[in-house]
Amino acid sequence: MAVVKEVGGLWVCEYCGLKYESRELAESCEAWCRRHRSCNLEIAKHAVGRPLRRLVWK
Ligand SMILES: [Zn+2]
Repeated sequence: MAVVKEVGGLWVCEYCGLKYESRELAESCEAWCRRHRSCNLEIAKHAVGRPLRRLVWK
């Protein structure tokens, strides 16, 4: 289940807070973050702006 949110026209990964211009990228990031508890640089490099908050893994 995707938890990405649209904020200001950008898609935000709920896990790491990175923002993307496309929902597909944000969902890919979210799926990776949820599984690996870390960011995939191949995905994160497509992020725009900075994380909304610091990484907090539960
Ligand atoms: Zn992420």
